[in-house]
Amino acid sequence: MSDSVLIVGAGPVGLTLALELARYRVPVRLVDRMTARETTSRAVALWPRTLELLERAGGGLSEELVRLGNRVEVANIFAGRQPIARIAFAEIATPYPFVLMLPQSETERVLVQRLEALGVRAELGVGLEHVAPDDDGVTATLRHADGRAESARFGWLIACDGAHSVIRHALGLSFEGDTLGNDWAQGDFHMTGVPFPPNEFATWWHGEGPAVLFPLGGGRYRLILGLGPSGPEVPPPPAPAAFQTLLNRRGANDIVLTDTLWTTSFRINERQVNRYRAGRVFLAGDAAHVHSPAGGQGMNTGMQDAMNLAWKLALIARGLSRARVLLDSYDPERRAVGAEVIASSGRLTRLATLQSPVARHIRNAVLPFVLGLPPVQHTLEGTLTETSTHYAQSPLNGVSWQAGAQAGARMVPLAGEPPYGAGDTPRFTLRASPSAGPPPPGLLDALIDPVLRPNPVSGGIELVRPDGYLAMAVADGEWEPVAAYLDAISPRPPADSIPASFI
Ligand SMILES: Cc1cc2nc3c(=O)[nH]c(=O)nc-3n(C[C@H](O)[C@H](O)[C@H](O)COP(=O)(O)OP(=O)(O)OC[C@H]3O[C@@H](n4cnc5c(N)ncnc54)[C@H](O)[C@@H]3O)c2cc1C
Repeated sequence: MSDSVLIVGAGPVGLTLALELARYRVPVRLVDRMTARETTSRAVALWPRTLELLERAGGGLSEELVRLGNRVEVANIFAGRQPIARIAFAEIATPYPFVLMLPQSETERVLVQRLEALGVRAELGVGLEHVAPDDDGVTATLRHADGRAESARFGWLIACDGAHSVIRHALGLSFEGDTLGNDWAQGDFHMTGVPFPPNEFATWWHGEGPAVLFPLGGGRYRLILGLGPSGPEVPPPPAPAAFQTLLNRRGANDIVLTDTLWTTSFRINERQVNRYRAGRVFLAGDAAHVHSPAGGQGMNTGMQDAMNLAWKLALIARGLSRARVLLDSYDPERRAVGAEVIASSGRLTRLATLQSPVARHIRNAVLPFVLGLPPVQHTLEGTLTETSTHYAQSPLNGVSWQAGAQAGARMVPLAGEPPYGAGDTPRFTLRASPSAGPPPPGLLDALIDPVLRPNPVSGGIELVRPDGYLAMAVADGEWEPVAAYLDAISPRPPADSIPASFI
């Protein structure tokens, strides 16, 4: 089947991609070599932009996740007992002005249910062994749990197979970067004596390494501890009593760990693949980028890779577009975002693990002032919540008008409006004021949501992509560039077959 997609890896990124493609009516197969789902919590943070984008799948998906999780609205930073900063997410312009704490196992369970409701079942116990891409498709060799080998042909293959990606290796792509020189431990615990309410999280900076505490709800907390400079091997996780001692020494003196649910230890890698696309193979999630868990953005960034790719692939796979630039834009858009996440999470980690007492003293003296400045707070909030993620340099950007948002900017629907890109076909959305004049005949036959939305904020005409980023914006009445943009994306009449040279 030349229009079908094989997704390798049914972690949060593979599940998100399968869900997006399935709802856009693209034939999809999702395989994973694990024979049973992980039940540990792993990534516990869902940030606002991920919830905004998941909402597009319909059926109240984000609301269901919010119901299951714990909303955290404030981030505190202390140096020992000295308060350094208090960052509130309430002011962020989003329907989800909080970080949602939800164990990854729960996020995956909800995604699996949604996917099964669309008729797609993740095939567990099926591993990819070999991949052979060519101009027209990809031949994959799969190994089933009973030892049976299967050779199958697909139009596209998406590597969501995690940090040790077999596909990345097979294609000879590099995964450049470093392993940072500190060891870390984390665990989930029940606790008493936590000196802030369950809608706040805290980081304590300390000369021996930081402590970070996230409330998961129901009296459960995720604790992450820096263990100091690395030895030759990653050490085993400390015993619960050592977690207790280390946490208390870092500044959280009153907290008592009452019950240990899960612990692990790790080292931080900062790496990114050199190309997110090799012909008909794309990489997403941990297969493409790994970085510090500071900021909790690994899983979120991966899920947003999936949402960036899905609508583009759906337009091509369904023959609704033959614009090469659609699939070509995935690499530059998401590689830039991945690089920024690696840089910003690395900065946060280095700031929290300063070794020199002088540097720590300066940090603790200067940062309360700097982080109190509204522009600095605004930047930090935007980075953490991923609401400032944008595609300013995208090859998909059309022109921008001097007023209003610039092409590539994140767009949030007005209150009461459906999300951008909802439904079973990826469609662009037009926003235009009555003064924009009527659209030219035929324009709304293109890949456009037939409901023209008002543009009371900045005036002019705005064209919004199915993933909620601004494609282009022009002044009232300038319909010609809008029509030209849409013609480039979806030449009418739609192509019924796509020559390999277009993709
Ligand atoms: C112990 C632990 C704690 C973590 N804590 C945090 C945290 O606090 N915050 C945070 O942001 N992130 C955390 N992470 C990272 C987070 O879990 C990942 O960023 C996230 O899971 C990435 O999702 P993914 O779908 O890209 O890859 P993964 O979740 O790794 O999924 C990849 C899947 O591909 C499958 N696979 C691999 N090779 C093949 C093959 N050849 N054939 C078929 N299937 C294959 C694997 O079985 C796996 O299920 C943690 C990870 C671990 C392991």
